[in-house]
Amino acid sequence: MKINKEASLKKFNTFNVSETANFIYEVEEISELKGILSNSKGKILILGGGSNILFTKRFEGTIINLKNKGIKVISENKDSILVEVAAGENWNDFVIWAVENNYGGIENLSLIPGNVGAAPIQNIGAYGVELKDIFYSCSGIELDSLEEFEMKKSDCKFSYRNSIFKNELKDKVVITSIKLNLTKDNHHFNIDYKDLKENLSNSELSLKVISDEVIKIRQSKLPDHKSVGNCGSFFKNPIVNQSKLKKIKAVYPNLPSFKIDSNNYKIPAAWLIEKSGFKERGNKNVGVYENQPLVIINRGSASGKDILDFANDIKETIFNNFNIQLEEEVLII
Ligand SMILES: Cc1cc2nc3c(=O)[nH]c(=O)nc-3n(C[C@H](O)[C@H](O)[C@H](O)COP(=O)(O)OP(=O)(O)OC[C@H]3O[C@@H](n4cnc5c(N)ncnc54)[C@H](O)[C@@H]3O)c2cc1C
Repeated sequence: MKINKEASLKKFNTFNVSETANFIYEVEEISELKGILSNSKGKILILGGGSNILFTKRFEGTIINLKNKGIKVISENKDSILVEVAAGENWNDFVIWAVENNYGGIENLSLIPGNVGAAPIQNIGAYGVELKDIFYSCSGIELDSLEEFEMKKSDCKFSYRNSIFKNELKDKVVITSIKLNLTKDNHHFNIDYKDLKENLSNSELSLKVISDEVIKIRQSKLPDHKSVGNCGSFFKNPIVNQSKLKKIKAVYPNLPSFKIDSNNYKIPAAWLIEKSGFKERGNKNVGVYENQPLVIINRGSASGKDILDFANDIKETIFNNFNIQLEEEVLII
């Protein structure tokens, strides 16, 4: 375990902002967790790769950065395996492990930054697949009682970029590992997502082909957080009902929308942001990424507060222009 006192958070968040915390514990052994939790005074924040979090001020409390490692096959049959992965594993390293071993189900989730333990928090998703599609359970420790738990998929209340961990259990648990069901029969692939379908229509499909294509598309659309600070999509895509959609379309006939059930439609937040002129409205510190306006970027020396102010400006403008309230995907601290 490494303990950083009065430490800078700069290398712990992909927005690259320089806030500080009283303590940052870098924890490799789960056996050390209960001791830290029971001795910590004040607030506790569990941190993975820091790729979905914006620090806007000093964090008065203890940050626990989980770094436990391990990938273990729990059971298998001829069609599938149940695999347990430690929370501190890098998500994309785990995807690469699965693809190399010919285990299917997470190839569409290639190159999502962050750690395995954070994947259930917002039910990570990309290219037509969400974590919930292969999720079996997660294990962890309750922060108050220090009791260990295992929660099955149905307990986690997964929905679009959401779960029980962002609601009833927010700041109440640390997830130490997750179990996923991966397939061994790899003849069924999910390439329904438009870009994948177009690019792969003439290819012989395999897990590796799909993973490589997802990586290629992502690299062309998203900034690399190692050179340009960002947290991916800053806002969720808003969902509106049919009557509201009709009203907005009366003013903006070109508004794109995707039906998600009989009465509700998802609208790309990127379209609303671009239409509101934010590609041109950044400043020397903060802006939106030119290839994907849903991604707010740190142009080098932005503080967390600069980024938050810019995000709030986007929210207010979208509300005034479209009567749509955007909701952050990124956790604001
Ligand atoms: C360039 C870029 C592209 C992205 N693309 C996508 C995408 O396609 N799809 C997508 O869904 N997301 C995407 N994201 C967002 C992000 O990668 C995911 O949300 C990821 O799961 C966050 O992991 P993390 O370890 O960095 O979490 P952190 O940012 O460290 O934490 C996020 C939240 O999870 C909590 N948390 C973290 N670990 C634990 C744990 N072990 N136990 C309990 N709580 C925990 C934190 O307290 C916090 O509330 C992208 C981000 C970037 C920078």
